[in-house]
Amino acid sequence: MIDLTTLTISKALDLMNSGALTSVDLTKMYLAEIEKKNKDVNAYLEVFADALDQAAEADKKRAAGDKSPLLGIPMSIKDNITIKGRIAGAASKILEHYVAPYDATVIEKLKNAGAVFIGRVNMDEFAMGGSTENSAYGPTRNPHDTSRVAGGTSGGSTASVAMNGALVSIGSDTGGSIRQPGSFCGVVGLKPTYGAVSRHGLMAMGSSLDVVSPTAKTVEETETLFNIIKGNDRFDSTSLTNAELSPKETPAKIRVGIVPELTNVGGLHPAVVQNFNESVEKLKKAGVEVTEVSLPHIKYSLAVYYVIMPAEVSSNMARFDGIKYGSKVAGADLLGDYLSTRGNLLGKEVRRRIMLGTYVLSAGYADAFYNKANIVRDLIRADFKKAFASVDVILTPTAPSPAFKVGEKTDDPIQMYLEDVFTVTANLVGLPAISIPSGFTEVEGKNLPLGIQFMAPHTREDILFAIGKQFETLR
Ligand code: GLN
Repeated sequence: MIDLTTLTISKALDLMNSGALTSVDLTKMYLAEIEKKNKDVNAYLEVFADALDQAAEADKKRAAGDKSPLLGIPMSIKDNITIKGRIAGAASKILEHYVAPYDATVIEKLKNAGAVFIGRVNMDEFAMGGSTENSAYGPTRNPHDTSRVAGGTSGGSTASVAMNGALVSIGSDTGGSIRQPGSFCGVVGLKPTYGAVSRHGLMAMGSSLDVVSPTAKTVEETETLFNIIKGNDRFDSTSLTNAELSPKETPAKIRVGIVPELTNVGGLHPAVVQNFNESVEKLKKAGVEVTEVSLPHIKYSLAVYYVIMPAEVSSNMARFDGIKYGSKVAGADLLGDYLSTRGNLLGKEVRRRIMLGTYVLSAGYADAFYNKANIVRDLIRADFKKAFASVDVILTPTAPSPAFKVGEKTDDPIQMYLEDVFTVTANLVGLPAISIPSGFTEVEGKNLPLGIQFMAPHTREDILFAIGKQFETLR
């Protein structure tokens, strides 16, 4: 009997290679779980009708001696990543019928590795939000307590893994979107170094911040996925060179830094503070050196992010005008077309950010907001450079609270933005960061997962994987 709750990529491959399991059997097991749970969780927007055909194809290849690293592994894909011939909707009405004309580079790599795509999963519309409540298709609920959110924006990805609706999943992270839902759903979320994974075929939100990001139950699996999807790509001019991405020597003793400016911020849920302190103690007891490092400008990260991100959003969203992409609601003339298409088919949060972004970029305000934010972004970068002279990774909580109730923060955008206080910095600076499950807290009779985050210098995912695997054994 196979226990999906503890199944990993390598265990599934062993079972399939030994003949004890076929990809068709495995895919059927996930489809059965989806059938049972998706009506409550709403992780999947679409289950692909040909999932079992893909699995049968993988089984045929295995029988013919194919040894591809994800051969027959069932996974889910966030709705903002294009798969040729399938709908890619970004959970938005404007792309409800949009069929992708090409494979994203990551999809091409995953196909070459033999993956089986079970379906596309829910998200906040165009990846703007922190709870998957901004989806045009209803919120994704937390498999640990369906009265609560899964987190966001990759809530469909992390919930699909947490409910055993997929072995692993691919999402994206612009300000915390794989890490915060990872911590809410009790799974690992890796945001790679900016540029380590091609953005070709990922719908642009904040182009200087976006990264395609894997999620799974274990650190080892996110490492496997990262190694498959990373790499230079001629379709993404910001992708790193293969020399920059080449293997590094991981330090034998990893020094961990904690940041007083971050851990002393007010407004944290007491369970988060307690869990974080316990996590630090576990590391120390295991002989890991933990010291304090100062990041004096990090307190401005959230403000800087909420200027730069909407500026980039306002520019990237201009293409959704009812003519170039997606659906159209006709108006009286050309301007009328724009107004009624965007006014009717884009959700409230997306429109809010387009307006905010247009404002911070407008003549007379660009210096006061956008340009100033970029200056502070450089100061934050410099802080990290200094900190990484004395430590190898920086440890923080992932989110300020465990999963909150559906509807709790939807009327207050500021409360929702505060969810990102620990995560946006890695995106601003381009650093790799990982959220790892660090235990549970009991709230109203339910056990809710918590997570901690490690951040490392550019292209040093190797250090995240090493300390992450060590931390997993300390649980
Ligand atoms: N919660 C953040 C935001 O709303 C992050 C979103 C993301 O990473 N895509 O912008």
